[in-house]
Amino acid sequence: MSQPTKYKRILLKLSGEALAGPSGYNIDPAVLEQYSKEIRQVVDMGVQVAIVIGGGNIFRGVSGERSGIDRVQGDYMGMLATVINAMAIQSSLEKHGMFTRVMSAIKMEQVCEPYVRRRAVRHLEKGRVVIFGAGTGSPYFTTDTTASLRAIEIEADVVLKGTKVDGVYSADPMKDKTAERYTSISFQDVYEKKLNVMDLTAFTLCQENNLPIIVFNMNQQGSLLRVVRGDEDAGTLIH
Ligand code: UDP
Repeated sequence: MSQPTKYKRILLKLSGEALAGPSGYNIDPAVLEQYSKEIRQVVDMGVQVAIVIGGGNIFRGVSGERSGIDRVQGDYMGMLATVINAMAIQSSLEKHGMFTRVMSAIKMEQVCEPYVRRRAVRHLEKGRVVIFGAGTGSPYFTTDTTASLRAIEIEADVVLKGTKVDGVYSADPMKDKTAERYTSISFQDVYEKKLNVMDLTAFTLCQENNLPIIVFNMNQQGSLLRVVRGDEDAGTLIH
């Protein structure tokens, strides 16, 4: 029997950069391994898990533009990068005994399914981990916006933003020793204090649709499980 959890269906947002580990580039097998173990713990509790992965470890449209690549072209390259990451996570999760599907916003039938909302929900109901690749399928958006959008579409209970820090701070905790962590904060306060949680499009989508966000440290062992159980100290809840 699985134990009770606060959230039944989650959308986990992971950045591409996090996948890269200390080097900042490519995919670190040790990170994949650790993330898979963390995700397995919540899947075992009966939680339905959808994942949106970034592509920053491989390519970002904005950086491409600085080196002379057309912005829209670069954004499509970034979206393809997220599919590479999605496939890497898929492979690792399956190695850890989970059933998975990658669904891409850009059709590529030989490697994964196209994104179809109803099918995504069906996969989740069957206990499969669904990984959304290729962002929103449109340039000028981010994978944070993808996370908010998909979470709303699949009626997730919460967006869990896995980061390198354990929540939202009053200032950058890496630079400012007096920075304090919020256990919970309203959308309005995040906005007024100009705290950096997500880009504004992603943030507003959540706010307007009453979809809570939790920022937590994905690199801390057991943290994802604690968040899903509803441990208030495990991250910062934005509501
Ligand atoms: N991207 C895009 N549309 C989307 C999602 C992503 O054009 O809906 C592109 C964009 O160029 C972005 C890149 O894909 O820079 C990688 O995504 P992101 O920067 O969000 O990844 P992360 O920072 O989470 O690693």
